Amino acid sequence: MSKGRFGEYGGQFVAETLMPSVIELEAAYNKCKNDPEFQSELTDLLNNYAGRPSLLYYAKNMTEDLGGPKIYLKREDLNHTGAHKINNVLGQVLLAKKMGKTRIIAETGAGQHGVATATACALLNLDCVVYMGKHDTERQALNVYRMKLLGAQVVAVDSGTGTLKDAVNETMKEWSRRMADTHYCIGSAMGPHPFPTMVRDFQSVISREMRQEILEREGRLPDAVLACVGGGSNAIGSFAAFIDDPEVQLFGCEGAGHGVDSPDTAATMQVGRTGVYHGMKTIIAQDSDGQVNPVYSISAGLDYPGIGPEHADLAARKRANYVPITDEEAVQAFEYLSRVEGIIPAIESAHAVAYAIKLAKTMRPDQIICVTLSGRGDKDCAAIARYRGEEIYD
Ligand SMILES: *Cc1c(COP(=O)(O)O)cnc(C)c1O
Repeated sequence: MSKGRFGEYGGQFVAETLMPSVIELEAAYNKCKNDPEFQSELTDLLNNYAGRPSLLYYAKNMTEDLGGPKIYLKREDLNHTGAHKINNVLGQVLLAKKMGKTRIIAETGAGQHGVATATACALLNLDCVVYMGKHDTERQALNVYRMKLLGAQVVAVDSGTGTLKDAVNETMKEWSRRMADTHYCIGSAMGPHPFPTMVRDFQSVISREMRQEILEREGRLPDAVLACVGGGSNAIGSFAAFIDDPEVQLFGCEGAGHGVDSPDTAATMQVGRTGVYHGMKTIIAQDSDGQVNPVYSISAGLDYPGIGPEHADLAARKRANYVPITDEEAVQAFEYLSRVEGIIPAIESAHAVAYAIKLAKTMRPDQIICVTLSGRGDKDCAAIARYRGEEIYD
């Protein structure tokens, strides 16, 4: 099976009952990918609804404070709904509409992808059902309310630990039961082919803009591009346009939780091994029997036991580096960027900011770093306050 492979990773490891759905989707995507009408409708949604292109902001205060390379921030936090997820969701929901689907299903963990999907469905007038682990619906009641407000139905998934991985399993099952009118809008660059390729393509608007913006501003490419990695969609979107430029170093920043030597970590590339999970061959956090390990990060968006297969290949080819960032380092970066630049980053994005602070200390003032801010941090303020021992009621 060589379809949708990235080196030895990727593929289409799904049950017989799901094969017709992924084959239909693959054919539809291949057609739309090269269709100027589809691309121009998508660009119109991205520009005139989501608010693209996003700023490439020169972080002057941070640059001067660290005394090293020029630091630029790619402001995905300024998109409508406050994160990069809208780029992918608008692409997939528009594609589903072209396929004649009337109903979108999606998994969500903390609720960010569910809210983005419900948003796109409200705009494009499709039914929307979001599967969310029962435990997560209790922890993220505000996002459940948002999804309902946007017209979506939220299904609490009771199986397993009632978290993201169980929501993915349930959504895949529902898709195989009902493919005729339903599209599964997956939330990251993961799962069976064509999802990792398709989601990368939709998110690569980040690096296409970044490349053009930095060439206009600096007349050359950056020395390093940094992004946080959960499933890996904002990171692959930030890397895509630079993969063939070997002078640009690529860094994916994982949620190390309490540290890679503790059981409470989500740094899959540090602690994982090759396996097959959620339809793809990739690096997975697992025990010696191949059971998927529970993972932990302060950041709900990075709390996934796998990683998109293209990242596994970029690491194997040594084209990209994957670095662990602990909760404490991320929280310090969250506070630092707020104080120094007046920008409150998502706690996920703060993992990339934390690595930028470390990396800048090893680089020269004539060099350039671009950091993707995948989202805004308003959603995280109460949790960070609690982490610091303050009680905030939200
Ligand atoms: C969901 C999310 C992430 C993690 O997802 P990726 O697919 O790895 O990009 C990162 N940042 C924010 C703000 C998110 O909402």
